[in-house]
Amino acid sequence: MYVWYWNAYRCYAYLSDVGHAPDVDNAFLTPQQLDTSEWFTRGWTLQELLAPQTVIFVDDEWQIIGHKCCLPCWCMSETRYALKQDLGHLGPILNEQLTEITGIDGEFLERCEKIQTASIARRISWASKRKTTRIEDMAYCLLGLLRVNMPLLYGEGETAFCRLQEELIKRSTDQSIFAWTLNEAEYGHIANVPKVSGIFAHSPADFEKSGSVCTTGADTWPYTMTNTGLHLRTVARRSRLARKIGRYGSRGGQEIFVIRLNCRLETVEWTPSKDSGEPIDIVVAECPRPFQGLAHLRRFQRIHDFGRMLADSCPIGPPEDVNLYVRTFNHVEVLRWLDPDPYYP
Ligand SMILES: [Zn+2]
Repeated sequence: MYVWYWNAYRCYAYLSDVGHAPDVDNAFLTPQQLDTSEWFTRGWTLQELLAPQTVIFVDDEWQIIGHKCCLPCWCMSETRYALKQDLGHLGPILNEQLTEITGIDGEFLERCEKIQTASIARRISWASKRKTTRIEDMAYCLLGLLRVNMPLLYGEGETAFCRLQEELIKRSTDQSIFAWTLNEAEYGHIANVPKVSGIFAHSPADFEKSGSVCTTGADTWPYTMTNTGLHLRTVARRSRLARKIGRYGSRGGQEIFVIRLNCRLETVEWTPSKDSGEPIDIVVAECPRPFQGLAHLRRFQRIHDFGRMLADSCPIGPPEDVNLYVRTFNHVEVLRWLDPDPYYP
């Protein structure tokens, strides 16, 4: 569908819930009236907004409200007066209002081809506040935007978004896919308590705060999905906190690693050539090891809201080259391994 919109000469967005304001002097609605429209809260309309060269917004009486102005746009053409008869009026430029309503930077509205240069996290963040009737559609409505092909399997539920992330890491080295945080609406009630999860997000809502994440394009070791989780060879720093709180004597505690991703939080002065912008780290902790026989097999899980504990308690070691198997998708739980592990007497 994304390609279908991409190839469209122009698209009309009929906002059935935006009433026509009869105004003698100005037939157009004030753009502020737009943001109440349901059109901006649905998942599938994201690609309808981004992919076409021209989107003309019309109200419930099919009167033109204005248009998304994408370069080159007919409204800037010198021949527009000659062509006006054929093309119809495009109405005023709504780009600024659209940015305000959707949080999508103007450059991506103005230049369709720039969309594919946005980091994965940023593109998913555009859908973070949107809703779809079926839970699977939250993943499926992003396929075109993220240039992923995968079969649609209605009934798979939340797994759809997990599958989407698996597909993405097969073809992309952009680690901003890991630059998400637990959604406050869902986990705010256990704020500031360390929590564990897999390395994959549960829904686009987890990317709500990732709207200004840029990829640095730095090289990464290949990472692969295995039956033990995501195999990640990377440079990471070891937290000495693990040793301190470990309860298992000579066996040592579970290890904690801080992994720096190849993406950054964009700041005003950030440019790709300068190595500035705020770096993004994720923290992984070793899962409890239930079987001594597999001591060499160490699985990790992601931990959240752990930063202060990490910073207060112990220094972090120098960067080292590590091989980690990280669980991909599991339910968010409060971190429990600070308690004695039932497997060890
Ligand atoms: Zn225009």
